[in-house]
Amino acid sequence: MSPADTIDSSVARGLRAADALPPVANRLLAALPARQRAAVMARVQPVAFDKGVVLSRPDDPIEWVYFPRSGLISLLVNFEDGTEAEVGLVGREGVLGSSVVLGSTTALVEHLVQAPVEAYRMDAAEFRAEAQADPVLMAHIHRYHHALHAQITQTAACNSRHDLGQRLAKWLLMAHDRVEGDVLPLTQDLLARMLGVHRPTISVAAGRLQEEHLIRYSPGRITILDRDGLERAACECHGASARWSRQFLGPPHARPGSTAAG
Ligand SMILES: [Zn+2]
Repeated sequence: MSPADTIDSSVARGLRAADALPPVANRLLAALPARQRAAVMARVQPVAFDKGVVLSRPDDPIEWVYFPRSGLISLLVNFEDGTEAEVGLVGREGVLGSSVVLGSTTALVEHLVQAPVEAYRMDAAEFRAEAQADPVLMAHIHRYHHALHAQITQTAACNSRHDLGQRLAKWLLMAHDRVEGDVLPLTQDLLARMLGVHRPTISVAAGRLQEEHLIRYSPGRITILDRDGLERAACECHGASARWSRQFLGPPHARPGSTAAG
């Protein structure tokens, strides 16, 4: 099955799942004034994608703008030797493809679904026209771009300075910020790919977090047991990214029992 087939069949599943989450599950849509939100919502369709679907590759034309309502999408840089590095993570706080308002016509990086996504999608040309005709909508998109730029900048600095244990804790917090509940549907293989290390190395780092009772690992899922402890184990970069996100998008949905934000 080609990625295109996967996406088309996912549209049908998305339609059935359309009422499972409220539109405001996407924080960017929730933050828009009612008029701008209504203008966008009048032109979107619900879609859903399974883990592993590649929404776009570098240089693909940007045909759709996606507003995730759940799940995780990684922004990946592909290297010539077949390896990759994650430079950003987008979930319900953000939007994919919105660089069309800046004049971009093709994707810069790979967009890979890490945890099953439900989203609204809008035709990219229609979205660009809507934003160019509405300064309020455009201003919100620019604010989000700044927050995403801050996340990517922090990731670049983090990757060059902070050790794997800190980066793993940070990545788990960023994922936790973007999902409902405390269970992350992630494998150690996936974590190793995202953090650019070999699988045995990530096993050791995850094992340490588990020994400290911060997470519980079982095949295909990681449960966050102690969010505050994980924040202490993470480098400062999670706090920095979360601060930018709060500044531009407002506070995240409340998470019972948590003092953290993202
Ligand atoms: Zn860091």
